[in-house]
This record gives sequence, C-alpha cells and structure tokens, in this order.
Amino acid sequence: MSAGPAACEGPAHSRATPASRPSPVELLLQVGVSLRAALVVDSQGRIVWMDPVLAGAAGWQSGPPVGRSAEEVLGGLPWLRHALDEALTGTDGLSEYGGQEQRLSAVVVPVFDDDGTQLGACARLRKSELPRPEAAREPQAPCAGAAEERKAREHLEHQTSLLRATFDSITDGVIVVDLARRITAFNKRFQEMWGLTDAMMEERDAEKALASVEPWVVAPERFIAFIRQAFEPSFAYRSTIVELSDGRVFECRSIPQLLGDAIIGRIWSYRDVTAERQALAEQGRLLAAEHEARERLEESFAVLDTFLTHAPVALGFMGRDLRCLRINDALAALHGRRREEELGRTVWEMTPDLAPMVEPLMQHVLDEGTPIIGLNLTGEVPATPGEQRHWNVSYYPVRTASGTILGVGAVVAEVTEEYRARAERDRLLREAEEAIRIRDDFMSIAAHELKTPLTPLKLHLQMLKGQADAGHVVAPRHVDKALAQLARLSVLVNDLLDTSRIQAGKLELTTEPFPLRELIREVLSDFRGTSVLHSLRFEAPDEPLVIRGDRARLAQVLTNLVENAFKYSPTGGTVRVTARRMGTQACVSVRDEGIGIPEEEQAQLFERFFRARNSPISGFGGLGLGLYICRDIIERHGGRIWVESEVEHGATFHFALPCL
Ligand code: ADP
Repeated sequence: MSAGPAACEGPAHSRATPASRPSPVELLLQVGVSLRAALVVDSQGRIVWMDPVLAGAAGWQSGPPVGRSAEEVLGGLPWLRHALDEALTGTDGLSEYGGQEQRLSAVVVPVFDDDGTQLGACARLRKSELPRPEAAREPQAPCAGAAEERKAREHLEHQTSLLRATFDSITDGVIVVDLARRITAFNKRFQEMWGLTDAMMEERDAEKALASVEPWVVAPERFIAFIRQAFEPSFAYRSTIVELSDGRVFECRSIPQLLGDAIIGRIWSYRDVTAERQALAEQGRLLAAEHEARERLEESFAVLDTFLTHAPVALGFMGRDLRCLRINDALAALHGRRREEELGRTVWEMTPDLAPMVEPLMQHVLDEGTPIIGLNLTGEVPATPGEQRHWNVSYYPVRTASGTILGVGAVVAEVTEEYRARAERDRLLREAEEAIRIRDDFMSIAAHELKTPLTPLKLHLQMLKGQADAGHVVAPRHVDKALAQLARLSVLVNDLLDTSRIQAGKLELTTEPFPLRELIREVLSDFRGTSVLHSLRFEAPDEPLVIRGDRARLAQVLTNLVENAFKYSPTGGTVRVTARRMGTQACVSVRDEGIGIPEEEQAQLFERFFRARNSPISGFGGLGLGLYICRDIIERHGGRIWVESEVEHGATFHFALPCL
C-alpha cells in the first residue's frame, strides 16, 4: 500500500507558512499523517484523503474520490463504512473492524480538536494486506492494467505533492526522527521555530540538532530528558510545554511513527503558543486583579453596609424620584417600620407629617446639587404619634464619579433629648434666677420688716428709761407701744419659724373637735377697736359648725386673713367675715373693700415670699409668708383655701374645712 499522508520526506519546501491556526481539514490531515491513515473523512463523512490503492479496492479506479461521501465511496466495503459511521457518532476511542473475509481490517479513530469538537475520523489499515489493484479487481487485459497502474502512480505522485505542500504549510513545526535518531522529515516551520540552519538539518543528526537547541531552552535538563525518553520506542502519546529563554513558549506533542504495527520512529510537532500563553497570563492577571478589586469592593461594601445599617444616626438614600433606595435600622425605626418595608416608598408614605417640610428640601438638593446641612426639624413621626420630636437633619447630593446626581442622602440625628434637656435647663435656670431674685428681695424685705418695729421699740424704751432715771412715773402708753412693736416682731419671727417648719415637714397640729363659730368670735373680738378706719362684721351661722382641728393654728389663719383685709384696705372700709355650711364642709370667708389682687397673680398668692405687684413693700409691710402658712395649715386639715378678687374692688378669701 501507499506510505500514506505521512510520506513527506526530505528537506522542507520553501512555501510560506500561514500565520493562522490550521483549519479543521489541515488538522485532520495532520492526524492522518501521524496515524498513517489510509482514509480520512470529515465530520460530515466526506472523504478528505484516501489511499489510492484503497480507493481502487473500493471500486474507484479513477483515483481517490476526495469530497464524496464515504457512504457513496465505500459501497463495496460495508464494514469500513459501518466503522466510520460509528466513529462519526463521536464514540471516543479506537475501534477495530474487519471485512468478513478478513482480508482487510482497520483501526478507526474519531478525531477531535482541542475544544472537543469532532473534526472527523481516520481509518488506518491494520494489515498490509491491501490487495494490489490487480488482485482486487476483475482480471483485465495486460495493456489495460499497465495503463491503470500508470494512472494510479500519477495520481499517487499528485497526492504526495499535495501532502508535502500541506506538511510545509501547517503552522506547527514538525520533525520526524527514526529509531536511529536520524531526522527523516521536517518542515520549514520547525526549522524557523528553532532557528536551525539548513546545514544542520542536512546532517540529519537528531542528537546534534537537539544539542544545538539546548541553549535556547529555559529548563534544558527537563527538555532533554523528555526528548530522550520519547526516543525510546513506545506507542505512548507525549506532550510537554517548552519555555525558551527569549520568552517564547512551545507546546510539544510526540507520537510514534508506525509502519503497519511496527514503530519506526517518532513524530514531533511544535506549536508556538507564546501569544496564547501571554494572553492567558494577561487574562489570568486581569481576572485576578478584577477578583481582588471585586473582593475589596465587596469588603468595603460590607463594612459600609454594616455601618449604614447599624449606625445610631438615622441614614437614608432617596433616588432621583425621591423614593427610598436604602435606609438603615435607625431611620426605619423612626418611621416605626422595618427597613425592608420602607424600600421604594416616598417621603409622603414614610413620614406624612414631615413630608411637607422634607420633600421641598430634598428636591432643592436635587435641583441645585448643593447640600443642606444641620437643619433643625420638629414634628411627629409614625413611631410616636402625638409626640413632638426634634431632629438635626442634613441632606447631601449623592453623585457618581462623573458628577451625575443619583439621589439625596439624608442624615438625621435625633436631638429630642438634648432639646428637652436644654428646655429643662433653661427652666431650671429661670427658676434659679427667680429664686435668687426672691431671696434677695426677701433679704431686703426681711431686713426692712425686722428693723421697722425696732426703731419705735428703741424709742419707747429710751423714753421709759429717761422717765425712770428722772424718777418719774413710767407712762403706760410707752409700755403699750413698746409691747405692740415687740408683738409685731414676734409675728415676723414666728412666720419665719413656721415657714422653716413647713419646709422641713415639721409643722405639727394638735387637733380636737370644737365649734368653728366660737373660734371665729374669739379671734374677731381681739380686733375690736384696733382700727379706726375699718369696721369688722361677723355674719355668724345658725349652727356651731363643729370641726376637728388645731384651734391655735386655725386662729392663726383667720387672724392672718383679717389682718391682711385691714392692711390692704388702706383707705378703710368694712371687713365682713362669714361662716356657713357647704354640704359636708364649713366655709369661712373674709371680705374687704381694699386694693384687690391682679387676676394673673392670684394663682401665685399662696407661694412662699410672693407679694402682689400692687402692694409694694414701701406701702404695705410683710414678708409674703402669711398666706403660704395659711394654705399649709388648711390643707393639713383636709381643707382648701382660695381667693376671689378684682383690682380696686377688694378681695374675698375663703377656706373650707370638713365638718364633723
Ligand atoms: P404679707 O405679709 O406680704 O401680707 P401674705 O402671704 O399674707 O404676706 O400676703 C401675700 C400677698 O398677697 C401680699 O403681699 C399682698 O400682695 C397680697 N394680699 C394678701 N391679702 C390681700 C388682700 N386682702 N387684699 C389685697 N392683697 C392681698
């Protein structure tokens, strides 16, 4: 039989090497060359190459029917057709088939490219029993047989030249070495790839050629060991990657060269994969960089997301349509909802009460691209309806790197507590200032009030002493006046003492049942004749109005009210005292026709040190303690005290106590 597509011997031809990857047909032919195949078909089952003798055996006398379908061509060899059909179904592996008469058998191999796409199939005849054309056909006339043989030879030469051209045009460098390590074939591409001179190649010495390329290889020991190992006769398919010191990378494949079943050498093919490797390395580097960048981004995002989600400050991000794109726990809680519920909502849906204020602000940020920082807002939120809360809010435009505004970022800091604390502090400050003012007023009033009786007291005592020193009879009027001033001093001091007892919770009552009507009579009798300007009337009740109480303290209350009625009626008038039953209570009223009390001050009348502004200390003495003590005494009895008054129209003080 023919030597097959591998039979390209001799120095390489000078045909230009295409730069592109081999086509599927070229690859098929390479494999056919390697396998010394007698028949090569493409994936469609069309003949790519066929040994002319086999073609003759199949009944095609006019030469190999390249391009025709194997089904058509192999009508006379149904087992081979069947074998090819099997191989073309993609069944990976070797299958051996033989004709019924066992005159021929073939190994049929499916062929795939690197991606796993089936390119076709190759059939290599197992035995060199291919009948010569004469034996395969019907006997023919001698002259006709010679003509046929010449025709077949011419065809064979034609095919051989085609194969040589193919061998030289493939982009892989190929070299064939026999068992004696003699170079039996190579192509131009191989010579170019390794930079081997024509002289070197002509020597046909594989060892020498190997030694000459050794300096080019980055890891020569490994490469030499790989080549040497492959020199040993073996059916093994070997491959390796060879790195050259100039940066190129070759992919090297090695398969045995077979003649029939016998190994007669080895075929090496080298493919320059530098560009692919660099592209792969670059791709790997880019992928790694992208991966790292993505990881960093994810890490940053995770950190930001954690901060955003759990920050104590309320944060949110609204898109250009002013719908919520992101929100953290704190802001969602302000709205009384969970984060997921707020996504996609408008400000009106999230905080209806604040929306009229907030939406124009956000729209302003979107329109102007400038932030609004540190604005104080007050209002209600759904989380706490009815409660006024206070926030310090800032709105920022959120931009892409190119400056496009994506939306508005909101930072909301709750300042309700601070606001309340500030209000409370201001209140306390006002109270403290008021207390200081009252204390200062009190100090000056107290000094004035205590000093006022001292001057006449001293005067009267000096006069008494003068009279006594002169041996005169002491005038009782001076003694009475001195005693009156002492009584006045004593009232002041008692008021101060009572106030401090009330403050300390130590004002004690000694209670007993007694008729209130009698107590009023006793107290009022002490006032008879004390004022020429005033008249005092008591409208006594029909009933005694028995109560349980501290007689002395209740007498103190009534005394204070009548004294005030006199004091604050500087032009005189009638002071009316009434007592009557009101349900279960006994109600006592003291009414005068004096200066009255401004309405707005009536509520504070019973506070410590309070003095109405229409009763200046210059005109009316007093420490502002009497009514304070009265209220405490009445309330300790389970009663209450109040006033009705109109400026310039007098005042009426009432107190009510539970009757027995
Ligand atoms: P004071 O010793 O100053 O009178 P009070 O506690 O008895 O202290 O009275 C407090 C203030 O109430 C007085 O300073 C005065 O302004 C007002 N007031 C009390 N009673 C009368 C009244 N009958 N008419 C008008 N103002 C009165």
